[in-house]
Amino acid sequence: MSLPEVENLEFRKITDSILLAHQKKTPFYFSCCDGLIVLPKKGRNKKAIALDLNIEPYLIDQVNRLFGPFDNYVCTHGHMDHMAHVHHWENIGANIYAPKPESSYLLDLHNFYEGFGFHEELDFHCIEKFATSNKYHPCKKVSSFELGGSLEFDNATIETIPLVGHSKGHSGFFLPDEKIIHISCLGFDKPNPSSDGFGPWYGFKECSIAQYIEDINLTETIFLQRADFLTSSHAYIVKHPDTTPFTYMRIKIKENQVKVDHALLSLNGYKKSNIRMDDLLKLDLFFPKKKLQGFMLDLYRYWESKIINKHLKQSKYLNLL
Ligand SMILES: [Zn+2]
Repeated sequence: MSLPEVENLEFRKITDSILLAHQKKTPFYFSCCDGLIVLPKKGRNKKAIALDLNIEPYLIDQVNRLFGPFDNYVCTHGHMDHMAHVHHWENIGANIYAPKPESSYLLDLHNFYEGFGFHEELDFHCIEKFATSNKYHPCKKVSSFELGGSLEFDNATIETIPLVGHSKGHSGFFLPDEKIIHISCLGFDKPNPSSDGFGPWYGFKECSIAQYIEDINLTETIFLQRADFLTSSHAYIVKHPDTTPFTYMRIKIKENQVKVDHALLSLNGYKKSNIRMDDLLKLDLFFPKKKLQGFMLDLYRYWESKIINKHLKQSKYLNLL
């Protein structure tokens, strides 16, 4: 099968009946993610299924024209880059599925605001501006599912994998028919083998580094024991038995700990009780914030403070100060 050419969209073939799709240029920082297209296959699924392919509506129309009709769409979690455009999959006739509790974030931005704890520190207008910049629109109806079970569409099976270090509703997928594991937003975010990325993202109160390590171990076991291919929301396709994604994610978490540990030592003379988040945020440990302003500065400070907090809790140096 030769892959069609679509401006600003790239298709990569994983198997004869599964494609990865990637929007190249995106309207804002957190507006899109790569996802899978499960093409119709005799005896499996009559209509196409989209898995977490959050791309702009004009591209959804093109994908629908090429591979549709799509009768089902599955979202992996309620972060903005995974839900902004899902409403348009609904417009073209797909039933929308999303994991609990984040399924409600696709229906109402207030649920996103409160669900991720933004309301404890930030004004709703900040989140409204963020959502508008990413072109978020709510869906009308979303069917929620529990993590750990399977979704069945005709004879297509999608096993959901709880990867809740990233967010409490974050789901990976395993497609037993095609031996593909999709680890979605776990933290393998290298666009190609020689590039670098941010790595695992745990910028919310609910995230957990310890759980992250377990999730990385779990997906590695599934990949090595059951899968031929590994895909993610922001990376290239990896073939069995290449364990690059797992090594990369573990190293990134360790490097993040080193950054926070060094920052603590650089604030020499401070006592534990005097360590202020503001002083750590000024160091731009994770995000260059000097050029940011308005709601983006507020958001990045919010996320970075949560990441720093998690590493502070497990820093051996904090106890020495
Ligand atoms: Zn995410």
